[in-house]
Amino acid sequence: MARRRLTRRTLLGTAAAGAAGAAVPRGAAAAGGEPRRLEADVVVVGAGLAGLTTARRLVQKGVTSVVVLEARDRVGGRTWTKPYGKAWVDVGGQWVKTKVTGYGPAQDRLTALAKEVGVKTFPSYYPADGQDVAYENGVRTTYPWQPTAELPPSPSLIDAATAIVKLDQMANEVGSQKPWEAGRAAEYDGQTFETWKQANTTTDYGRKILDLGAEAILACEPRDVSLLYLLFYIASGTTLENLISTPAGYQESRFVGGSQQVSKKVAKALGARVILSSAVTRISQRKDRVTVRSTRAIVTAKQAVVAIPPALTNHIFFEPQLPPLRAQLAQRFPMGSVIKVHAIYDRPFWRDDGLTGFTISDRGPCKVTWDNSPPSGSPGMLVSFFEGDDARHYSRSSPAERRRATLDCFARYFGRKAKSAIDYVELDWMKQAWSRGCYVGVMPPGVMLSYGRTLRPPVGRVHWAGTETATRGAGYMEGAVRSGERAAAQVAARL
Ligand SMILES: Cc1cc2nc3c(=O)[nH]c(=O)nc-3n(C[C@H](O)[C@H](O)[C@H](O)COP(=O)(O)OP(=O)(O)OC[C@H]3O[C@@H](n4cnc5c(N)ncnc54)[C@H](O)[C@@H]3O)c2cc1C
Repeated sequence: MARRRLTRRTLLGTAAAGAAGAAVPRGAAAAGGEPRRLEADVVVVGAGLAGLTTARRLVQKGVTSVVVLEARDRVGGRTWTKPYGKAWVDVGGQWVKTKVTGYGPAQDRLTALAKEVGVKTFPSYYPADGQDVAYENGVRTTYPWQPTAELPPSPSLIDAATAIVKLDQMANEVGSQKPWEAGRAAEYDGQTFETWKQANTTTDYGRKILDLGAEAILACEPRDVSLLYLLFYIASGTTLENLISTPAGYQESRFVGGSQQVSKKVAKALGARVILSSAVTRISQRKDRVTVRSTRAIVTAKQAVVAIPPALTNHIFFEPQLPPLRAQLAQRFPMGSVIKVHAIYDRPFWRDDGLTGFTISDRGPCKVTWDNSPPSGSPGMLVSFFEGDDARHYSRSSPAERRRATLDCFARYFGRKAKSAIDYVELDWMKQAWSRGCYVGVMPPGVMLSYGRTLRPPVGRVHWAGTETATRGAGYMEGAVRSGERAAAQVAARL
């Protein structure tokens, strides 16, 4: 079979093929056909934000012979924007923080990348004088935004707020670089967040708020996650308030036209380097090269970057096999459980009542909501998430049942008008073969302590990227971009 070296000329010469963000080299084998053989300096597995950032930064450093292999027929991975009339619906990741606040830093590498490729942001709808909705024990109240982690007022607010302050302090002590080396790592990794929550709250309200915190940032139940992993995750976002706040945290802004625009534009510039519908099944390392076999191409390269969630690396056959601890890490780092739901209305009617669209509720499946309308306010959109057990339960239901459950929740929070949605858009991320759950991998007890140190170091010529490997913004688009920049620097130094 003819071998062809991917030079700057051949690759950039076919860049126009990527005009729709679906860059495939001319003559690439059709899915199911014989894969073509290619040579490159670097092969990247996965065209999510992490893999695409890796490739972009390498090309910018002068390493232009790069191939990106993507299993899906689109780029963007856990970001996916569906056009909706003159607007759009982000069925995956969407929010971005553009400014530093008292809760912590901005997502500055993500915003820098978006700026480079010309994708603009706009602030989430959240008027300063608006009211949020709280729904607790069957009672609905409204309240103005509080600079106390945005918690609804309650006689036992102090219980939840005290626990959050403690978590922030412990996260600060653990840090995000080497949590397994923290002084109390063994104690923290020997328990779930559920165990800690039971011991450190005194009220039902406090416990419910902490449940919501774990569900909202990790899409899992508090019993699913190690306390040490949760502290690492908070540390990578600086404070829990930074992760959960809308006006002053990670939900501050959105991308005009949707978040997948960033990946699409990066892929377009990479052109024919990106090969879609090409799932990687085998990675073989020899002394002087690494060969990555996928549906449409077999790429021999000097270095490889695997930019997929660790749980999905279990579906790739490594030759020689990965070191035992790295292989076992992948077996012990499952994905969270989430279904993202949108109800669409002629107009955002809740704004007439002075509501921001934000809700905190103790009754699912939609326990948090936001106004997700486009900047024009037309159409009106409410977004929510079924997380943890709610997602697991409703994943077995029909879309019609999930729609009914969603609109029932919205009607409890915003009144009967919420039942008259003109449309409903959802995505069950557990059913996505190339994600198998979201938002992120979640470590149960014992994993960070015993296996955490294997997360980032390369194995021979194979390097790791992906938001799960980030030390800042881990689990978020920011972490994906940062991990790609780190991997690109690591690989460039080796070449
Ligand atoms: C519902 C939802 C809401 C979210 N909300 C936010 C938010 O508001 N803000 C935020 O910052 N983040 C959010 N996130 C998280 C954010 O989307 C992710 O952290 C980020 O997109 C991860 O990027 P990545 O490149 O690390 O991984 P991925 O996006 O998962 O990319 C990995 C890529 O590898 C591909 N792949 C997998 N296996 C193979 C294989 N064997 N061969 C070839 N390709 C393969 C996949 O198809 C995928 O394209 C959300 C995620 C979801 C799902």
